[in-house]
Amino acid sequence: MLDSVRSRLTLWYSALFGVFLILLAGLTYFLYWRNSLERLDSNILELSETYITTFDAELKDDKAGGVQSAASVAMIEHRFRDVVYVVVDPQGSMIVSSLDLPATGDLEKVPPAIFASREFLELERAAAARDGDAFRNVSGGKNGFRGYARFLPPDNHSACLIILQSLHPQHEMMEAIRRAFYWIIPIALLLASGGGYFLARKSLAPVADMATQARGMGAARMSERLEVSNPRDELGALALSFNELLDRLEKSFEQQRRFVADASHELRTPVAILRGETEVTLSRADRTPEEYRETLAILRDESQRLAHIIEDLFTLTRADAGQYPLKLRELYLDELAGDLLRRTRSLALSKGISLTSSIQPELPLQADEDLLRRMLLNLLDNAIKYTPAGGCVNVDCHRDGNKYALRVNDTGPGIPAELQPRIFERFFRADKARSRSDGDTGGAGLGLSIAQWIAEAHHGRLELTRSDASGTTFTAYLPVSPTPSHD
Ligand code: ADP
Repeated sequence: MLDSVRSRLTLWYSALFGVFLILLAGLTYFLYWRNSLERLDSNILELSETYITTFDAELKDDKAGGVQSAASVAMIEHRFRDVVYVVVDPQGSMIVSSLDLPATGDLEKVPPAIFASREFLELERAAAARDGDAFRNVSGGKNGFRGYARFLPPDNHSACLIILQSLHPQHEMMEAIRRAFYWIIPIALLLASGGGYFLARKSLAPVADMATQARGMGAARMSERLEVSNPRDELGALALSFNELLDRLEKSFEQQRRFVADASHELRTPVAILRGETEVTLSRADRTPEEYRETLAILRDESQRLAHIIEDLFTLTRADAGQYPLKLRELYLDELAGDLLRRTRSLALSKGISLTSSIQPELPLQADEDLLRRMLLNLLDNAIKYTPAGGCVNVDCHRDGNKYALRVNDTGPGIPAELQPRIFERFFRADKARSRSDGDTGGAGLGLSIAQWIAEAHHGRLELTRSDASGTTFTAYLPVSPTPSHD
């Protein structure tokens, strides 16, 4: 049961509320008790004042009677229920007590032992020492007494008045308050827990809904989204983030699906050609050696094309999975570019294209040589492939601040502006007929995707810098790595 968040929330809430209630009850109880004692003290003070006034008057009227007589008369005049007057000398010997006088009413039983109790003696001592603060609680009887002691005027009579007033009414009141708390606290706790549980359930209901909706989603229902009741609250934000995650997943699922579909499509064509050529050749037994050679040449070209596509697909899948280990080593970008230019020169010449370059010397770089070659080869290959005879392809390589800029520039027909944003998409070909009819190893629309990935794998980027009727320029920016040591 405690596994659910709402139960835990309710439990925590109730526990905290319980502690708060108990503290509040304790504080109320304490303050009420202190307040009732203060009221009682001021009442006793008043009693003592009127008593002293009478005592004074009696003392003046009946000088012969002395302190004992005046004290007794004043006591009889001021007797109240639950109030005991005692007059003692400074040594603590009792001179007169209202308990000994006749007709003092139905005083609460005051045990005689109280006058020998420690608290009573302390009262006497406080009065004798005239330290002013002469209020004490004196235990005894059912509920104890509030005691007050002070000197009786005139001081040289050396007598102290002690007043004891029963704490019974206060104790009764406190008992009533206690009893009220005994049922108010559990009821308040019960109500608060019920309310807390209800609120927790209500606030967490969207989470439960989300869980149910999410459980019902699968690869087949990728386009479904969670309902967002209030996008401004925390749960709304959670649902929004979840939906954004689903957007990304759906996009990636869709890319993956398209990738597989496109890949199968690309593979199907050369396989169909292989099969068709073989079947046509085998359909007649009397083929000349030339016809066989021609078929074999077609088979070789198509299988080469097939191998190339498979290799590209394999590279991209491993790159996507982050499993393509870069074999970094120190190299010189200018040397690598020069070498590739030499290798492609004959291809360019065979197509009637002039290949020029402007390469800054000494461009050290830490990179995967094979991948970098592949990137530059893809760019050069495209430039030569899409530039008509008589055109020109130029490779420019130089340092530009903290990066190298490797530019492949051609005078081809350019890429239509509306297709330029899609140029790095996998299997995208701006002009499908031409790419395929070239009959070389490229043409599946993967070359630029791979080139872009290679640049990014080296923490750089590949951009289509320019493409219009006068030609196309691709630029790869690669960050400069620490200069390799020459030994
Ligand atoms: P492909 O294998 O078809 O060349 P790429 O990914 O290398 O695939 O290129 C994608 C498409 O971009 C090509 O089909 C082509 O239409 C276009 N393209 C790439 N480079 C150039 C270029 N230098 N000039 C004109 N079009 C280009």
